[in-house]
Amino acid sequence: MSQKTATHSNDNPFESMMSRFDEAARILGLDEGSYNVLKSPQKSVIVSIPVTMDNGTVQVFEGFRVVHNANLGPSKGGIRYSMDVNLDEVKALAAWMTWKCAVVGIPYGGGKGGIKCDPRKLSKGELERLTRAYTDLMVDVFGPDKDIPAPDMGTGQQEMAWIMDEYSKLVGYSSPAVVTGKPLVLGGSLGRVEATGRGVMVSTRSALSKLGISPVGCTCAVQGFGNVGSISAKLLAMQGMKVLAISDVTGGYYNPEGIDIEAAIAYRDSNGGTLEGFKAERISNEQLLELDVTVLVPAAMENQITADNADRIKAKVIVEGANGPTVANADEILNRKGIMVVPDILANAGGVTVSYFEWVQNRLGYFWTEERVNRRADRVMKTAFEAVYAASQKHNISMRIAAYVVSIGKVAEVEKLRGKFGI
Ligand code: NAD
Repeated sequence: MSQKTATHSNDNPFESMMSRFDEAARILGLDEGSYNVLKSPQKSVIVSIPVTMDNGTVQVFEGFRVVHNANLGPSKGGIRYSMDVNLDEVKALAAWMTWKCAVVGIPYGGGKGGIKCDPRKLSKGELERLTRAYTDLMVDVFGPDKDIPAPDMGTGQQEMAWIMDEYSKLVGYSSPAVVTGKPLVLGGSLGRVEATGRGVMVSTRSALSKLGISPVGCTCAVQGFGNVGSISAKLLAMQGMKVLAISDVTGGYYNPEGIDIEAAIAYRDSNGGTLEGFKAERISNEQLLELDVTVLVPAAMENQITADNADRIKAKVIVEGANGPTVANADEILNRKGIMVVPDILANAGGVTVSYFEWVQNRLGYFWTEERVNRRADRVMKTAFEAVYAASQKHNISMRIAAYVVSIGKVAEVEKLRGKFGI
């Protein structure tokens, strides 16, 4: 069977995803038909987006939307604005969304979108025209029951508000449920901003409890100090953990006595968004990964833990806040060292879980308290962790492959039950 002989490169995100998929498919004994269906995105749309720039010229941007699988429900996934956006990356991210939604048991398939652009070089007006034009071109793809975008790198609440407005104009009625990650006043959910970091904290607690380690006094290092990293660090510190190091694009900040996370967040917010100049011992992002801590949370970007540095990692638990922070060929080294890795598709699924709650609230026209959002999201994360842990014990496999086994098994079963191959 083709998956038995497939080899995959590690720097291509789709290939990296497929190497884990292959391993899980072998364990599940997935038949060749299901394998071929699930590895292929159901829909890939590429559009050329003409935008009138502020200086009167017309620039054409390339935009993508990939629906990897929509059999558990409408496809769900963010929209990324970055010069690195390409079809392979969007395909990988869309597949990860399928597995992520399935692993936490929310009724969504997986999708992802992106526009190849540098949002920092565009004015607000240009960004608005670009986002609206992209929405116009995707009007037949998007829909509250079809495909529901959300923010990703380079996009945020403002872009979601424009998408919601443009889509609503095109269909002729207000449709807040077409997109999540909206501003609160426009139908966003309480708890959404903190949701991913909160899920990282809940996953960390679950992992530590399996290892019989108390979070109180236990040490950790967090790479990345944006939405996911800073909120993870804050909530881990609130559990009594000592955060010895944090980092961002400006480098790492280390204090053997523990970093005051609230102070670091306040510093970042008053310092143009970075930690540059924050008072602590300076280390590099690479050194942070290799610190002697119990828990390591990579929460910045992909390809940070590789076959080159995996052997030097000392943490007992890695909780992947970022998407794809570990390349596939580092997995074996981490496994050999006995490190428990809570994989991205489980650890950072708190965000999409609360996005789902946002969509539910939009459809109900009724809003939940933050306490209710958090309680339900925590329950989803704990249940998913236990299911993945049980699969890892049953098959004697890593938590990463177990997460793929749980999710691919679920999507394959639905595929069979529905008895069809398309959307
Ligand atoms: P963000 O833009 O808010 O923060 C990114 C952080 O990483 C910033 O502190 C930035 O300075 C830092 N960074 C950038 N380049 C770096 C580098 N070379 N070395 C070290 N740090 C660097 O982004 P975010 O929303 O926190 O997302 C972080 C990761 O988590 C991404 O992989 C994203 O896909 C993933 N994720 C985010 C969410 C969410 O809800 N925001 C959900 C699931 C997964």
